[in-house]
Amino acid sequence: MKQTIVIGAGFGGLALAIRLQAAGIPTTLLESRDKPGGRAYVYEDRGFTFDAGPTVITDPSAIEELFTLAGKRLKDYVELMPVTPFYRLCWEDGKVFDYANDQAALESQIAAFNPNDVAGYHRFLDYSRAVFAEGYLKLGAVPFLSFRDMLRAGPQLARLQAWRSVYDKVSAYVEDEHLRQAFSFHSLLVGGNPFSTSSIYTLIHALEREWGVWFPRGGTGALVQGMVKLFQDLGGTLTLNAQVERLETVDNQVKAVHLVNGQRLEAAAVASNADVVNTYARLLGHHPHGAATAKKLKRKRMSNSLFVLYFGLDHHHTQLAHHTVCFGPRYKALIDEIFSADTLSEDFSLYLHAPCVTDPSLAPPGCGSYYVLAPVPHLGNAPLDWSVEGPRLRDRIFDYLEARYMPGLRSQLVTHRMFTPEDFRDTLDAWQGSAFSLEPILTQSAWFRPHNRDSVVDNLYLVGAGTHPGAGVPGVIGSAKATAQLMLKDLA
Ligand SMILES: Cc1cc2nc3c(=O)[nH]c(=O)nc-3n(C[C@H](O)[C@H](O)[C@H](O)COP(=O)(O)OP(=O)(O)OC[C@H]3O[C@@H](n4cnc5c(N)ncnc54)[C@H](O)[C@@H]3O)c2cc1C
Repeated sequence: MKQTIVIGAGFGGLALAIRLQAAGIPTTLLESRDKPGGRAYVYEDRGFTFDAGPTVITDPSAIEELFTLAGKRLKDYVELMPVTPFYRLCWEDGKVFDYANDQAALESQIAAFNPNDVAGYHRFLDYSRAVFAEGYLKLGAVPFLSFRDMLRAGPQLARLQAWRSVYDKVSAYVEDEHLRQAFSFHSLLVGGNPFSTSSIYTLIHALEREWGVWFPRGGTGALVQGMVKLFQDLGGTLTLNAQVERLETVDNQVKAVHLVNGQRLEAAAVASNADVVNTYARLLGHHPHGAATAKKLKRKRMSNSLFVLYFGLDHHHTQLAHHTVCFGPRYKALIDEIFSADTLSEDFSLYLHAPCVTDPSLAPPGCGSYYVLAPVPHLGNAPLDWSVEGPRLRDRIFDYLEARYMPGLRSQLVTHRMFTPEDFRDTLDAWQGSAFSLEPILTQSAWFRPHNRDSVVDNLYLVGAGTHPGAGVPGVIGSAKATAQLMLKDLA
């Protein structure tokens, strides 16, 4: 039976490895770090558990599908708990919006901001649902290999005005600036600037309304562990501390992968879940096609980076929601700076994660584990020295949270750690330290994004945030479905 290798155990790599193994193809998953999960790594420190990355779990049906196709049940591996409200949105003027899946509660909150916007919201929801049906249900897991595929989707994209930005489209429906922010910030969750990302990304709203927001008991890491267990139960092999150095090719075929420890592993097909730019620049850099593709990709626009601060307190702030978005004083101007400035802004907007609200087991009794993140420019735009900027930003954020959201924070601090754009670059091998790979603008999406199967090296495939459809847990799980379809056909 043909042996396949998947490089990288992020959600995309794991989902692909499960699909291959479930189809009877012996699959080895190689991960350079000491734990699987990629951006969903887990830190454990003094009794606190910190999920490093994704915390908003949407589209459980895509996860369930991985278990079903393997003849198993998701609930036997991990429990997903509903999160209510989905998010609490807070502004500096004291306004608060609890965004939940309750139509009446949503409408009364919208009316409190601006009564005219209730009708506008209904029209926005209809639009978002139409985009969701087209962009997610129909095209989310379809590989765009030829321009013909793109042309086929053209009329629908035109009908949905995909060339307009998320913010522009939301503003066509709602007038109130707070509500415009409330319904446009979602693209930031997958590295998209709401002012330049295609309005197709408004589908996230409908997706959340359709399937809810969930959190695994034990944290996102428990979901990663559940997927690893499923893969291993199916007979797959996960090798940790296995960093791939290069792909050995003969003509336009990958023959084997070489690890930094000197090992050589042969494979009939290889899929890379590693950073897409570095897959071509480093792993395939010796091949003329690899070098040329890397050169092209390096000219593309990368998503922003993130500054993430994980902290454990000896106090459980029960006043917080599980997910809080703390909007700063500026919206568009700040986002413009995050996506293009060469320095850090004076102000910030934050996402605050308080998982103990849903699962107190993530901290010692009476304590709370938290993380807060601020979107920041990637290293290509702002080549800052994060050993200096990190502690400064940490202090500013702690002061801000203590003053507005978490009284007494500093005196309650037991432990903390930072993850900066330099860590995205050095720990995850992310080009320019981007947190979400290529920016999801229309001209870098679908056929314009690196394809799920390479166009020259026949048995090389991509999976994860850098290929179609893009970043985010549902996105990379969808990419695994698209890539698996191709691999299973090619290997048959
Ligand atoms: C802080 C943060 C919060 C987020 N929050 C959310 C959220 O709430 N909801 C959501 O849906 N999405 C969220 N996202 C986005 C989401 O986490 C990512 O888009 C997604 O997890 C990326 O998955 P991936 O499959 O592309 O792989 P990655 O997670 O990028 O994993 C790639 C793996 O490849 C490994 N690797 C790289 N090079 C090599 C090599 N040469 N050899 C071997 N292994 C290698 C890496 O170590 C890594 O483990 C968040 C992202 C971040 C950073």
